[in-house]
Formats: sequence, structure tokens, C-alpha cells
Amino acid sequence: MEDCIFCQIASKKMPSKVVYEDENILAFQDINPQAPVHILAIPKEHYSSLNEIPQSKKDILSHILLKCRQIAEQQGIGQKGYRIVLNTGKNSGQDVFHIHFHVLGGRKMTWPPG
Ligand code: AMP
Ligand code: ZN
Repeated sequence: MEDCIFCQIASKKMPSKVVYEDENILAFQDINPQAPVHILAIPKEHYSSLNEIPQSKKDILSHILLKCRQIAEQQGIGQKGYRIVLNTGKNSGQDVFHIHFHVLGGRKMTWPPG
């Protein structure tokens, strides 16, 4: 997906501030943070949203989610609390159509979300 910015970040064609990487996942600082800690975790493989993840790839979801927990711990927000956001589709506010989990924390979150 040459025109996908998160594919470019995953392949290191575009720079990012990486906080975690393995064979299947990259996590990096959000360029426009909405909280003191704001990390994005993505699969390196392109899927435009949760709606496009096939059953056969369901393990990637649990893998990313547990890595988000590890990242939250590493960022020092694991115990006080953090929010993981997975915007899916236009109405959710999804702007980048390469699935990504937001890990947000370092301040008290409000509810309901906007
Ligand atoms: P969403 O609205 O859920 O699609 O979130 C997209 C997120 O990607 C936003 O929080 C943006 O600030 C973030 N973002 C967009 N471009 C970049 C980039 N080049 N590096 C890091 N984060 C980015
Ligand atoms: Zn992509």
C-alpha cells in the first residue's frame, strides 16, 4: 500500500518515534498527542480497519492488545490507568485507514468520549 502513511512508517520509509517493534507490530508516538502519553500500535501488514481483519488473522488483535498493555506499563501509566481506542470507520473519527490502536494516558480521561 504505497499511499498508506502507516505502511510507510511500518517500512521505515517515513520516520516515526518508535517505542516498540517486533516482527508483526510497530508502536510509535502519535504526531499530534491528545494526552501526555499517546502511542499508536499497528500491525505491519495493511488492513484498513477492524472490519477488514479476517478470522484467520484474529491472533494479531490479541497480540497487539497485550503489547498495548506492555507499552502502557513501560510508559508508566499501567497502574494509574489508560485508554485504548480503536476507531473504526468514518463515524468513529477514523482518519488513517490502516488499523491502529491508540494508547492514551497520563491524565484523567473523560467519559463519554466526544
Ligand atoms: P484516527 O483518527 O483514529 O485515524 O487516528 C489517526 C492518528 O494518526 C491521529 O491521532 C494522528 O495524529 C496520527 N498520525 C497521523 N499521521 C501521523 C504520523 N505521520 N506519525 C504519527 N502519527 C500520525
Ligand atoms: Zn497501510
